[in-house]
Amino acid sequence: MAMLHSKDTPVVSAEIFVIPLETDRYIVYAPLRRAAFVANSRVVNFLADLQEGVFDESADPDNSLVEFLRQLKILDAGSETLPITSFSGNPEPTSATLFLTTACNLRCTYCYASAGDTPTKVMNVEIAKRGIDFIAANALKRKEDSISITYHGGGEPTVNWRVMTESLDYARQKAAELGLKVQAFTGSNGVLTDAQIDWITSNLNGATISFDGLPEAHDRNRPTVLGQSSSERVMHTIRRFDEAGFRYGLRVTVTLEQIPSLPAAIEFICSNFHPSKIQAEPAYQIGRWEHAPSADTEEFITAFRAAQERAHAHGHELYFSAARLGTLTNHFCGITKDSFALSPDGNVSACYEVFSEDNTWAKTFFYGQPDSQTRGYRFNLPVLNNLRNQAVQHREYCQGCFAKWTCAGDCYHKSLTVNGPGEFAGSDRCHIIRELTKDQILAKISESGGVFWSAP
Ligand code: SF4
Ligand code: SF4
Repeated sequence: MAMLHSKDTPVVSAEIFVIPLETDRYIVYAPLRRAAFVANSRVVNFLADLQEGVFDESADPDNSLVEFLRQLKILDAGSETLPITSFSGNPEPTSATLFLTTACNLRCTYCYASAGDTPTKVMNVEIAKRGIDFIAANALKRKEDSISITYHGGGEPTVNWRVMTESLDYARQKAAELGLKVQAFTGSNGVLTDAQIDWITSNLNGATISFDGLPEAHDRNRPTVLGQSSSERVMHTIRRFDEAGFRYGLRVTVTLEQIPSLPAAIEFICSNFHPSKIQAEPAYQIGRWEHAPSADTEEFITAFRAAQERAHAHGHELYFSAARLGTLTNHFCGITKDSFALSPDGNVSACYEVFSEDNTWAKTFFYGQPDSQTRGYRFNLPVLNNLRNQAVQHREYCQGCFAKWTCAGDCYHKSLTVNGPGEFAGSDRCHIIRELTKDQILAKISESGGVFWSAP
């Protein structure tokens, strides 16, 4: 056997992961080359040798394997660019999320915010205006041409309707004076009046509506504050969004009990509505659902796969937040890149689920407060730097995971809830993320002719 270990030895030039399928079948995946193929153990061993600098020419007598790997930039293609962006110093956001209120018109069984069980907090318009002034000034400073505002929960943002509408009017006026554009979005439970629907479709650029698909499942878990069903109201809203050609996504929350009906829920949605995106996530075991059984199960994966097939048959995409092959990043969400969200009291949080100063992980996620001397904010850099340090390149546990540059470490808030503040040690979600990401890799290979996938 001719073994070479010399200047002629091909050099592995990609981070490679080997993902076992069934007996003697593996996916060889190079995430940063956006390339993958299915291989047997001979090829996997050949690559492992090359990684050690050992070239077994007899395993590739006609050089075709080496040529193939060169074509995929796995060999001899120079170093890879890591998809890492990092942040330092005081943040200069040009986007703001406004947690308008902790009040809600629904009483969802699985509410992460336990909305309605805690004293209500409501943002006043001055707090919103200060945040808008801050991001507009940053946009000018950074020579960007737009600002973005998202109205989000902790409760139902539309319940604080006056501040929602007045603050957007203010943002528009301010932006016009400064020559900026405004983008605006909301996450809502969809229980809205017709006047609110009219305003949203005329004034916002998009919305995410929580809708669990089958009306009976939705009504079991998402009753109104008076204990009535809410599905009719939500379906009315999304029908009207469709009529207006308004862009919206739907978020389906799946409890353990509802896992078997996920495919039917997606079928129902795709047969009746036209969302631009549909997301399905297991219900989080926090807030009112803290003591409920986990839905992060093997059954969820099976149901998700079946639901995805239904979605595809209708030309829709069903997605799970952390399985996203198309995205190469070191950030799962905004908490590692200076996300700027204002609580009803006007303080700065990085996390959508930490919307109030009395939340369990408030000390970890609240990193700023209004500056009494100026119209701006004072930032607590040690807290912010700890958040920035949660980007995936700093997560020891994630380093050997093939999903690391697409999942990017998953939700830090969930990891704190599961693991506590210590070193991240994985969660049941990791298995879901890897299985669904593996599906996406196999789908890419299959769409590309069944032999290999190599994105241009
Ligand atoms: S840490 Fe988790 S809950 Fe918080 S913003 Fe990120 S994804 Fe959302
Ligand atoms: S180990 Fe888990 S959290 Fe980390 S990248 Fe992989 S799937 Fe995501």
